[in-house]
Amino acid sequence: MTNQQKVIAILKGIAARVIEEQRFLTELDNVIGDGDHGINLARGFSEVDKKLPSMADKDIGAILKTTGMTLVSTVGGASGPLYGTALIQAGKAAAGKCEISMPDFIAIMEAAVQGVMTRGKSTAGEKTMLDAMIPAKEAMEKEYAASGDAKTALAAAAAAAREGVEYTKTIIATKGRASYLGERSLGHSDPGAASFTLMLETIAELA
Ligand code: ADP
Ligand code: MG
Repeated sequence: MTNQQKVIAILKGIAARVIEEQRFLTELDNVIGDGDHGINLARGFSEVDKKLPSMADKDIGAILKTTGMTLVSTVGGASGPLYGTALIQAGKAAAGKCEISMPDFIAIMEAAVQGVMTRGKSTAGEKTMLDAMIPAKEAMEKEYAASGDAKTALAAAAAAAREGVEYTKTIIATKGRASYLGERSLGHSDPGAASFTLMLETIAELA
């Protein structure tokens, strides 16, 4: 499915997309949080972008781990440690690999989801990034089992993540800052679910 150079190109694409959409992400966070999600992620991914050239000769596991550590150390707020942990765990799942297949990518996504759940003490249905990540991972697995085609599986995953963002509008936040709002969080999209969807759409486009 992809090799080191492509992983670096995808991370560059994600950084560009997050930076481009930072206002949109921050607006979502303004409504149910503290209005910094886009700023947080743009700061972290700008740092990642700067480090990408130095990662060119590393294996995919090391590239993902460095990306995760960069996010942990540069992103304030809940999303830094959470996305950081997701990428560090993804890096462990890809340790030593210079090429990854679709089954590898499914295992990497699984590790990322587990990383967020453990770090965030969270699960599906709490109006967080997990409500995009979990259905995306499941759709990817299902579509790949049915078609054996990586592109189709990634497109299905991105579509499921987008539906996951819609689903977050229908539920009350029970984790993170949005949980302070209780029922007033209803009707609004979760910023983390939206940012994950942008990232996955970029992966689906570039992989
Ligand atoms: P903060 O909430 O500290 O301001 P951000 O605004 O950058 O951090 O990120 C908020 C996003 O983090 C939420 O939209 C949600 O998706 C995610 N999030 C917050 N807490 C958790 C958690 N415990 N588990 C999973 N995701 C979480
Ligand atoms: Mg915030």
